[in-house]
Amino acid sequence: MADGTRRTRLLTFLLVPLLVLAVGVLATVTFRTSFQLEKLREQSVVEATLSLANEKADRLDKLIVEQDDAVASDVNIGDLDTLSQRWLKGAARQTPTVRAVLVVHLRRPLRDVVAFASRAPGPEDETFRRLLTQRMLNDMVLDEEPKGGLRHLHKSYGGVNYLVSYWQRRHDGGDYLIVAWHDVPRIVHEIFPRVYSERGDQSRINVVDAEGRIVYGPPLSGGEFTVGRPFATTLYKWRVNVTLTSAEELAENVARRRVLEMVLVALSGLVVIAGIIVVLVAAARERRLSQLKSEFVANVSHELKTPLSLVRMFGELLQSGRVESPEKRAQYLQIIVDESERLGQLIENVLDFARVERGKVAYDMTEGGVGDVVARAVEACRMRADREQVKLDLLIPGGNDSALRDEGALEVAVINLVDNALKYAKSGELVRVEVRHVTGYTEVRVSDCGPGIPPEDKKRIFERFERGRGAQEQKVRGSGIGLALVKHIAEAHGGRAWVEPNQPRGSTFVFTVPRIQRPVRSGAVSHPLGATAAARPKD
Ligand code: ADP
Repeated sequence: MADGTRRTRLLTFLLVPLLVLAVGVLATVTFRTSFQLEKLREQSVVEATLSLANEKADRLDKLIVEQDDAVASDVNIGDLDTLSQRWLKGAARQTPTVRAVLVVHLRRPLRDVVAFASRAPGPEDETFRRLLTQRMLNDMVLDEEPKGGLRHLHKSYGGVNYLVSYWQRRHDGGDYLIVAWHDVPRIVHEIFPRVYSERGDQSRINVVDAEGRIVYGPPLSGGEFTVGRPFATTLYKWRVNVTLTSAEELAENVARRRVLEMVLVALSGLVVIAGIIVVLVAAARERRLSQLKSEFVANVSHELKTPLSLVRMFGELLQSGRVESPEKRAQYLQIIVDESERLGQLIENVLDFARVERGKVAYDMTEGGVGDVVARAVEACRMRADREQVKLDLLIPGGNDSALRDEGALEVAVINLVDNALKYAKSGELVRVEVRHVTGYTEVRVSDCGPGIPPEDKKRIFERFERGRGAQEQKVRGSGIGLALVKHIAEAHGGRAWVEPNQPRGSTFVFTVPRIQRPVRSGAVSHPLGATAAARPKD
């Protein structure tokens, strides 16, 4: 009991908190390290994606601006008549997305188009001319003093997307606006695929409009690893979104890792909570045990004091010679004998229990009858039973079963049970001790017709220092170690101890000892459960 208790205490109050701490620290460190590593990885993926998005957006801007530059170099305000001829010559090659080039005179009251060179003349040209003069010019940034820089207008008119490049020029005192009309559908269908669908690219790209509708490319599912950037100068209402193919994988990994982390955190939390519960329960149990121990000390002192004072009181009375009646003297002597007997038994119990607690108990297991031993123990209790006018019956229906048993220990167990029956079931008038055959075991049963055991106390009363509620309430003397000793003795023999209710009242305390099924040589032998054969427990 003692070694086991020390080991349990060590485990509960040192190893469990250490384990909980270790799990907590380990979970935190692992979590933080993996979190930091993942963050770094994610950051580098985002940075790589961003620089790719910048590159892709800038590339398109550059492509359009290069065409604009080509247009600008072809337009000579002083010689507008030759505009078509000059520009159209290399238009297909140099400015493939420019659909038309126009020159607008800004100072005229009507802001009229003074030159129009179209690659595919048709009715749309006229529509565009009207749109330009009536609406687009109002949306353009026009300077009082033209500096000649290139500007872009990217806007939707009547649900159609337009991109125009424009420059302001001053010539001969007149303000002119050169406009390059870009063919947006052509940009989408020819330029985007060329710029954004390179083979072997480790990225997926799409372009979305201001409302987030996909203009070009597939939907992207990189989650937080999709980086979007608006085109800086040309198609500035649109944005290009990029996601690395590895980022999609990464996003999946991140989702998986998050689930794993949550499971890990939950598990570590459970371990920590379980550890705390174990420690709290153990602490509560320790508190209860130390409270029980102090009650035990008080109970034992009381139990020792009461018979001692009786022995002393009646001894002094007899010594004083004032008791003349021989009956009275005999009665006093009987009291002295009874009380010293009780004192002896209590001391014996406490000593046995102390040995068990220290783990020093050793049983002298010999082969022999169980019935004999029980009968001897019952006889030892008979005088007390007679005095208390309780009938003590002994029944051994199956005969004297053979077992490996420590005679002294079995006697202690039976005496404790009979003593309890006499103590708690005084009103019962009958205590029956029975030795029975059951498969593989010999059962020793001590029944009384006393108050019985409440079901909730059935297990507890076999624990050391535990006393029943009834015993405490009715102030029955006791120390709470008798049944713990019975249980220990039964288990040391390879059996068990328990209590059953009796009908209509009372209880039957039972313990078992394994029967010998094969011939065993008598003498001191090792018990199967490990109790070493030695002399009966002695200090
Ligand atoms: P103690 O008798 O010194 O209190 P035990 O370990 O022998 O300690 O018994 C534990 C408790 O079991 C007792 O306090 C009592 O409440 C209950 N008990 C034991 N035997 C009986 C019995 N025969 N009838 C009723 N209650 C009993």
